[in-house]
Amino acid sequence: MLKAALKTKALAGHVPFRHLPLAYLHSKDKDKFGNPIKGTAKVIVHPDPQRVRTVQREFELRARGYSYDEIRKRNLAEPGLVPDEIRRTYSRHAIEVRLKNPIYWGYFYLKDDPKRYEGKHELIIPAHILKAVEQINNGDFKGRSNIGVGEDIFRGWLTCDDPECGRLITYERKEKTLKSTGAAKVYHLYRCTNSRKVHDKKVYIGEEAIFEQFESVVQRFSITKEFATDITEALAEAMETQRKAIKRQMEGFRVALKELEGKEDIIYEHFVSGVLDKEAYQRQVNKVRAERTDYTHQLEQLTLEINDASNSALAKVFELAVDAELQWNLKNREERAEYLKRVLSNPRLKMRSLRYDLEKPFERLAKMKGTSNWRREVLNLRTEAIEWATA
Ligand SMILES: [Zn+2]
Repeated sequence: MLKAALKTKALAGHVPFRHLPLAYLHSKDKDKFGNPIKGTAKVIVHPDPQRVRTVQREFELRARGYSYDEIRKRNLAEPGLVPDEIRRTYSRHAIEVRLKNPIYWGYFYLKDDPKRYEGKHELIIPAHILKAVEQINNGDFKGRSNIGVGEDIFRGWLTCDDPECGRLITYERKEKTLKSTGAAKVYHLYRCTNSRKVHDKKVYIGEEAIFEQFESVVQRFSITKEFATDITEALAEAMETQRKAIKRQMEGFRVALKELEGKEDIIYEHFVSGVLDKEAYQRQVNKVRAERTDYTHQLEQLTLEINDASNSALAKVFELAVDAELQWNLKNREERAEYLKRVLSNPRLKMRSLRYDLEKPFERLAKMKGTSNWRREVLNLRTEAIEWATA
């Protein structure tokens, strides 16, 4: 493309690069036969939510002060996050390049041109996280904890629940002068990006309405300190019982291993005395050895299980769940948004109505709260808490 043509495109807010960073894609409008229309190319958010989520996690973790290498390890360890097709090339360098790519901030540069061009593409990272990463990029490190305040706190988090659409929910800031007082009021509004043009009109939902609907979520898994203590005690009991069962199982494996040793000796004797030919001997020895490897492996697994008595993951769940309603009332809007992002996943918007999944340990707590049989759930709760805390 000619340089002048590039510049014209850039000035109109179109990113004129052939290759776009992860989570973005070139798209052309289609005519009624489904053929792309020339000259309508624009940059859209990639329809694969895994790609979007991966980049978002990179920015979130960076904003909290994680190194590129830590980000890489954490994201690769999170099940279903990094898409299969990029796992092989998912390097710390690639992450660094993304975390410094101005396209995620909404602008870009052309080669040999100092001018900064503003893109028209949709942003996927909330402004306060972009700001924190920018500060770190400039060597102005603010530390791991507070990542400041933001207006578009839910940007890139919610998706449209319409199966035909499934696109990201975007943020729009509106300012209105109140007639009564003359003061300006800011509205934080969200709506579907509608980049597939599935919906006829824009449906807005305000930030306050989002929070209102999520308030009942918090009530679902909010527990008292006493209940948390009861659970911890019941868990200790259940784990002791489990430990005894595991020890019995381990003893059984040890006996089986001992027997297999004797078996191999007998097979060997049969071979020497000519009862078994070489082929039959080899086959039987292989079988015995495979069984031994299997038992040894299971023993190692059980040893790990029996030694892992830590309940730190569960403690993290309790931190968020004990007196959750009270916590909620004391939090400001940014803290509430961060809180929601930890306790629930897959938040969707169906018109103005919110859908979501609770993260597993919180869903489990919500169930346990309402039943007298909750004790039989404590081991499941523990397992789910560990999975959640390491994700
Ligand atoms: Zn939609």
